[in-house]
Amino acid sequence: MKTLLVTGGAGFIGANFVLKAVADGLRIVNLDKLTYAGNPDTLSSLSRDEGHTFVQGDIGDRELVAALLKQHSVDAIVNFAAESHVDRSIDGPAAFVETNVVGTLGLLECARDYWRELPQGRRETFRFLHVSTDEVYGSLGATGLFTESTPYAPNSPYSASKAASDHLVRAFHHTYGLPTVTTNCSNNYGPFQFPEKLIPLVIQKALAGESLPVYGDGKNVRDWLFVGDHCSAIRRVLEAGQIGETYNVGGNAERENIVVIKTICALLDQRAPLASGQPRESLITYVRDRPGHDRRYAIDAGKLKRELQWSPSLTFEDGIAQTVDWYINHQPWVQRVLDGSYRMERLGS
Ligand code: NAD
Repeated sequence: MKTLLVTGGAGFIGANFVLKAVADGLRIVNLDKLTYAGNPDTLSSLSRDEGHTFVQGDIGDRELVAALLKQHSVDAIVNFAAESHVDRSIDGPAAFVETNVVGTLGLLECARDYWRELPQGRRETFRFLHVSTDEVYGSLGATGLFTESTPYAPNSPYSASKAASDHLVRAFHHTYGLPTVTTNCSNNYGPFQFPEKLIPLVIQKALAGESLPVYGDGKNVRDWLFVGDHCSAIRRVLEAGQIGETYNVGGNAERENIVVIKTICALLDQRAPLASGQPRESLITYVRDRPGHDRRYAIDAGKLKRELQWSPSLTFEDGIAQTVDWYINHQPWVQRVLDGSYRMERLGS
């Protein structure tokens, strides 16, 4: 049985990854600082599972990370931990550099020192998998796709900090031989996403009959991937990815933001009509665009398909319908995020 050190495993994608990995019999040591984005509620079903050890801490805490690697005899690291919200990076970039760049550097140094000491056999199979974003590539025009050889051109403090972390991972492979793999994924959606991100924000506001803010003209395009598919891609890369390589992960599901919002409105009108009978599309309000808002992201995930036989299992239409249903059926989870009580839990109050 393999033991993974998963960082950021109380966040949206990390928690989805941990829940599935534990169910599949992997042993998980989950290191998470529990910033506002870390939610212990999401992991409550694992409280008695011996396959899951939760540790509250910072990826940049070298002493702690070194001790965890040794104590749990870790076979691989999967690094999800990050500050991840573009709007927050515009308001306060320093935290993004602190965790995404300096924190990742600390984690890499600990991984390198631990890996060097591993006995032969385990040294060859050890992996450091770094989870990154397609936003490092910048913005596309109306045509074209990001490939693994697209030059980096990050435009937000968030994507700049992720780009820096990707470069450090690359450098640790080339300089020290650390067996790294990196995934660059498009926008995720699905269960347990913090309701500050577009899809859960719109679902929640639309359920409440509140106005639905749309940046600019709503025609910014993102390539959407269901979170379970992102997690399955990471597992595949961990199993069979080539050391030192990067893999783009995408859903072949480019949609304008306005189309995503209208799709959610239509699904909610069918499943939970407003008492007034008002169609939810009428709640859409265009607001001033985000500064530096990238126009279009689109991923060519052909390398992952060709080399590792991975493709997404869900279409956008199926994934978004499942997601809308999940939010309708998990309102207590959302309400505890919105009223802040999910943060009280960790403080024991
Ligand atoms: P998230 O914000 O939901 O979760 C991040 C988690 O990291 C939280 O639990 C937080 O407490 C933890 N964390 C933050 N700083 C930490 C630190 N210094 N030490 C330890 N833990 C810390 O993010 P997410 O959406 O789940 O994204 C996870 C990863 O995937 C990120 O690296 C992000 O860049 C990448 N990614 C996200 C998307 C997306 O659409 N959400 C797409 C592609 C890539």
